[in-house]
Amino acid sequence: MIDRFLRAFAPLAILFAAPAAAKAPANPKLIVTLVVDQFAADLFAQYRPTYTGGLKRLSGGVAFVNGYQSHAATETCPGHATILTGRHPAATGIVANEWYDRASGKTLYCVAVPGADPKARGPENLRVDTLGSWLKASAPRSRSVAVSGKDRAAIMLAGHHADAVYWWSGGEGFVTSPDAGPSDPAVTAPAEQFDQAQFAAWRASPPALWPAEVPARCTALERPEQFGAVSFSGHVPPDGAAVGPGDKRFAGQLAGSPLLDWLTLGFAEQLVASRHLGRGRATDLLAISLSATDYIGHRYGKGGPEMCAQLAALDLALGTFFARLDALKVPYLVVLTADHGSSDAAERAARNGSPGSHRLDGRTLMEALNAHLRQTFTLAADPIKGGDLQDMTIQTGDPALDLRVRAETVSWLQGKPDIVQVLTRDQVAAAAPPRGTAPDKLTMAERFHESFDPARSGDVFAVVADHVSTIVPRKPGDAVAGHGSPWDYDRRVPILFWWPGAASKTVTRPIETVDIAPTLAAIAGVRTPRLDGRCLPEVAECPAQ
Ligand code: ZN
Repeated sequence: MIDRFLRAFAPLAILFAAPAAAKAPANPKLIVTLVVDQFAADLFAQYRPTYTGGLKRLSGGVAFVNGYQSHAATETCPGHATILTGRHPAATGIVANEWYDRASGKTLYCVAVPGADPKARGPENLRVDTLGSWLKASAPRSRSVAVSGKDRAAIMLAGHHADAVYWWSGGEGFVTSPDAGPSDPAVTAPAEQFDQAQFAAWRASPPALWPAEVPARCTALERPEQFGAVSFSGHVPPDGAAVGPGDKRFAGQLAGSPLLDWLTLGFAEQLVASRHLGRGRATDLLAISLSATDYIGHRYGKGGPEMCAQLAALDLALGTFFARLDALKVPYLVVLTADHGSSDAAERAARNGSPGSHRLDGRTLMEALNAHLRQTFTLAADPIKGGDLQDMTIQTGDPALDLRVRAETVSWLQGKPDIVQVLTRDQVAAAAPPRGTAPDKLTMAERFHESFDPARSGDVFAVVADHVSTIVPRKPGDAVAGHGSPWDYDRRVPILFWWPGAASKTVTRPIETVDIAPTLAAIAGVRTPRLDGRCLPEVAECPAQ
């Protein structure tokens, strides 16, 4: 029928055929969603000329270089939750990695399970469904599997109806939890086998956590650094990274090394083979979040030899992973993005083109604010709960007094250096951006609105100045850099689509991570509920929207 149509309108067909051929083929057997934790857009761009492996392959597909996690709370849990739901944190309910719960007076972790054992992990706090659920609603035999170096990353990608959800747990290996998904032997046995083989090998001989061959462009960045109160030799591999699994430092060293991503991809590859992903009639989903870039960014910053070596290792690991998928001859499509961006250690950033970069001791400022409020209102306890300048909950036990404390909090903070704006919950709640506002044009209040939930968010939101870090390293092992701000270096991420035969295209128009889910749904031909994101016509044949 279509053939006859094309023959009848040959000139038109030629006119329209070229752009259509550039789009992803419909109904792929396997969608591989990759999230590189803390892979900022500027980091992707800076190292793009050096990629030779998997990142080179993906760079040769449709590369959106101005992707945005649109919201202000640029943390791991909210960021991951946007990617396969197509919704901002305001709708997913995942407004931060943890939030202050007014009812219990406790801080809740985003993947803790309300009312269950404190160690239980699951998606109960996630208020919406993910692509995996839509695929199953369309074809019940579609499988959805998620694996990550972190529990919150795996669980937020997996959502509520996954077939298997795994994360790396310190000295144990890959684990799951009955609250996160099925935990029958079909799910747990592959992880146990993988872990046992790894740990047996490591007991025989400690693993190389960092690659033996560090590229010369990375060793060229080696120099001693002083970040806050902590000194670094600046060598790669970092000092002290050579213990085996019998040593209590092992789990931490492994998590902060490139090996964690190799393990995650190695296990993911085994799952593709053992669960026959991509072999059924329906589209399967494999979601993988790679955590090492984030751990390394926090521990060493992103401007030094450690991040350079990590990205080289990641590029290589992804190249190996794709080559193995190719060998399985499963037709697959890949999307790669990040849960948030990052900034470098302030001292090095100040040297490298961001001269205003410095640290602001956020903890001390918060203590001074609480002391001022206790004195002003004659309070026995700190009225500000939560302890994050960017999301402060005020709770004195008297709602009328809470409002007065809120007003005083705003006026006290407004006079402080490095605090450029202070927003109240009323201002943030009212700041819904008009639909279709480009993510780079959102006001500060609108960015906060995108990650605001009336039940889970605080009362006052302070914006710390551009390139001012509230992280203060006090002792070895403390984070030296991070993310979490509403500034673009924490919001901007790459969004890369690749499939066999994809035409190479770099797209500069700003898009959002919430656009990924509707795009994948269009490619897989499944229906979605109403979403915040929009299908990307550069990649998919989009339905009218
Ligand atoms: Zn993260």
